[in-house]
Amino acid sequence: MGEKVFISGASGFIAQHIVKLLLETGYTVIGTVRTKEKGEKLKNLINFKEFNYVIIPDISVPGSFDDAFKKHNDIDYVIHSASPFTYTTSNPDKDLIEPALKGCKEILNSSYKNLKNLKRFIITSSDAAIYSNFDEKNNKLKFDENSWNLTPRELGSNDPVTAYYISKSLAELETVNFRKTQNPNFKFISINPSYVFGPQAYLCDPNQINESNQLISELLKKTQPKDNFDNEIGGFIDVIDVAKTHVFAIQNNDVINQRLFLNNGHFSTQMILDIINLNFPKLNLIKGKPGTGQEDIKQLAQVDNNKTKSLLPWTFTSLNQTVIDVVNQILDVQNKNDDNSKL
Ligand code: NDP
Repeated sequence: MGEKVFISGASGFIAQHIVKLLLETGYTVIGTVRTKEKGEKLKNLINFKEFNYVIIPDISVPGSFDDAFKKHNDIDYVIHSASPFTYTTSNPDKDLIEPALKGCKEILNSSYKNLKNLKRFIITSSDAAIYSNFDEKNNKLKFDENSWNLTPRELGSNDPVTAYYISKSLAELETVNFRKTQNPNFKFISINPSYVFGPQAYLCDPNQINESNQLISELLKKTQPKDNFDNEIGGFIDVIDVAKTHVFAIQNNDVINQRLFLNNGHFSTQMILDIINLNFPKLNLIKGKPGTGQEDIKQLAQVDNNKTKSLLPWTFTSLNQTVIDVVNQILDVQNKNDDNSKL
């Protein structure tokens, strides 16, 4: 039996890719899900006897991880990926910041108390822990692996986007404080992806696309001249690169105590629309203002993640390829659904 990895939030978009790659690499994986129904669905999809799930309905409840870690006290690596990721809430502090922060404290404390073999604790953080949602759009600023989003918690109480950014920063800071105050035997690695696009690992229900890929799936509905779209801008990274980095963080010694800032450049929604229109002309989507993407992203802050790139021995997937992969998967599923409805 391979070494044992515990991953929180196993049913999530990114976590499913991490689980898939871990299993293919030979690890045994225990993943948390919130309900038995989700666990069974995931286990059937994954279809590997080395995958099992535990049910943790809410990571932020005191002692939430204790039973799972007492049962699986031989875990070698913990990946903490569960965190609320939604921009639709009327109480951003309660729904985003509190569960992210408390959940991180719970998994850290319970790992320390119960997992005597633990070698590494890897947190799926975010570029949101590197800069605020405002600083990200200030081209006079430059950010790297040493930068921190230190926006005060109060500023997140009325705005879900600001709150999400704060939630990621506070949770990651909790791991830094834990390392300094408890000095545990296990090592820490933070993974800080920008906006993650990419196909789903197993599940692809076009009506249940995760928060980040919704930007692409929504564009596929824009066929009428009156349709318009929010031209979002930001950094991007492909989900496969994110999954590979988590596995690398388990295996490589140079990444210990590092923050791995995963960003392969900047995107705008217009740039994504241009890629879709070029590669899938038959979809007849609206055109927006083709070719203006480079202008859109000029207002974004500069990113210097050369340190991360020098640590990771592969080249990140291009925006072009990522968008094509996502659209192909959505169209495949739509075609299959159409075929089934004809039967
Ligand atoms: P998903 O929403 O697909 O996955 C989040 C997972 O966390 C889900 O399994 C969810 O369960 C679980 N979860 C959320 N809140 C709780 C809670 N209180 N108790 C138990 N489980 C909980 O998001 P992603 O896969 O996109 O994100 C995964 C991680 O990556 C997150 O930490 C996110 O912040 C980070 N990230 C994501 C980026 C992106 O662009 N997608 C960019 C940078 C970082 P359920 O679905 O059942 O509610």
